[in-house]
Amino acid sequence: MADTTLMDKLVSLCKRRGFVFQSSEIYGGLGSVWDYGPLGVELKKNVKDRWWDAMVHARDDIEGLDAAILMHPKVWEASGHVAGFTDPLVDCRQCKNRFRADDPRIKGTPGQPEAQCPVCGTRGSLTEPRMFNLMFKTFMGPVEESAAVVYLRPETAQGIYVNYLNVLQSSRQRIPFGIAQIGKAFRNEITPGNFIFRTREFEQMEMQFFVQPGTDAEWFERWREWRMEWHRSLGLDPAKLQWHQHAGSELAHYAKAAFDIQYQFPFGWQEIEGIHNRGDFDLGRHQEYSGKKLEYFDQAQNQRYLPNIVETSAGADRVTLTLLVDAYREEQVEGETRVVLGLLPSLAPIKAGVFPLVKKDGMPDVATTLYHDLRRQFACFYDDSGAIGRRYRRMDEAGTPFGVTVDGDTLSGGTVTVRHRDSMQQERVGLDQVAGYIKEKLGAGS
Ligand code: ATP
Repeated sequence: MADTTLMDKLVSLCKRRGFVFQSSEIYGGLGSVWDYGPLGVELKKNVKDRWWDAMVHARDDIEGLDAAILMHPKVWEASGHVAGFTDPLVDCRQCKNRFRADDPRIKGTPGQPEAQCPVCGTRGSLTEPRMFNLMFKTFMGPVEESAAVVYLRPETAQGIYVNYLNVLQSSRQRIPFGIAQIGKAFRNEITPGNFIFRTREFEQMEMQFFVQPGTDAEWFERWREWRMEWHRSLGLDPAKLQWHQHAGSELAHYAKAAFDIQYQFPFGWQEIEGIHNRGDFDLGRHQEYSGKKLEYFDQAQNQRYLPNIVETSAGADRVTLTLLVDAYREEQVEGETRVVLGLLPSLAPIKAGVFPLVKKDGMPDVATTLYHDLRRQFACFYDDSGAIGRRYRRMDEAGTPFGVTVDGDTLSGGTVTVRHRDSMQQERVGLDQVAGYIKEKLGAGS
């Protein structure tokens, strides 16, 4: 399967089965903004829940937070985003398109007469590169003036830094400890694309871990290991996960050390999570710009210091895309192509499909009762239309691990057929044991 077609097929499956739709589609769509449909919202929620469980519920040294998207504009001066969160851009005077200055499609040096616009082909029409800030700006209150400018946050991290003392004091944590947050972030990306990989509105799952200076390198290594382990636990192909270390010039202004966890997408190795040793840059800057002391008094050491920060920053949308790409497969079964999303059962949006074999002989009644019983315990889908093979195939595409069919033997012997998505094998399970059977399978290794 050629890799570009894999992405095309995935985009089409996502629309067909209700994972992801283009935003404002009936108006022609909005560039690189996507909406999650009934199955997509469940899948992304399962990703976020799993992250929250691993970060907050499973540990007693991390607290949760949900900070507002809008923040005091000085936050973004202190963070360096107003001055530095920029990309160099060039405009074509002829066709009015805008490109990143390093767009590989541009022939020649922008601003020079020989440089050629990659869209309209005109020579000499490209401007010199100018810096363009990626933050979305808006106005707070009724007056649109510069004093009223606020930004949509381009990352969730700053909400954590400015609340670090509030959380520390109210939770009675001690350093080392962390704060975790899941929330929306916005970037006016110039070259977004690859479906939900790079979008202008997205969700981040970020955790900032506050440590004593001098212990940061050690914590950084620990967090690297834990985060890679988490991605492996999602069932991703381990051969498609790798580290990418940021060398010298690639390091962001705040970082002492940075590693990305990359996944091998059809469009190449790309970052899904960044782990950064941020030193005391962030708290130092907020202390300077706010004029408020952000030091920590370490009673055990009888020492006052500005904590260092180790950050783990993942995209919920990117991880969701990674799962979809990793899970997609096509198989030839009896001369037909079977499309399967081999998602880990615990991550699958629907856990079981419930089907009456035929719409007669009382089968729908038994199947409906079973469906209502099961859906109180996990996400289920009832389907009584079409041949049973087609119903199984629809559930395969949705990544549903189990199909439960009520048939003639159910009525006479009190058992149902449980069909497994991956092996397509079928077995008979007692009608009153199906719920326990599926729950056991969902818990085991998933
Ligand atoms: P990239 O180099 O891909 O733009 P970045 O290095 O700017 O990413 P960070 O600022 O470290 O990314 O953000 C942390 C995580 O947030 C990324 O690993 C990614 O999963 C997610 N993320 C960042 N930008 C976007 C975006 N435009 N769309 C979707 N997810 C994003």
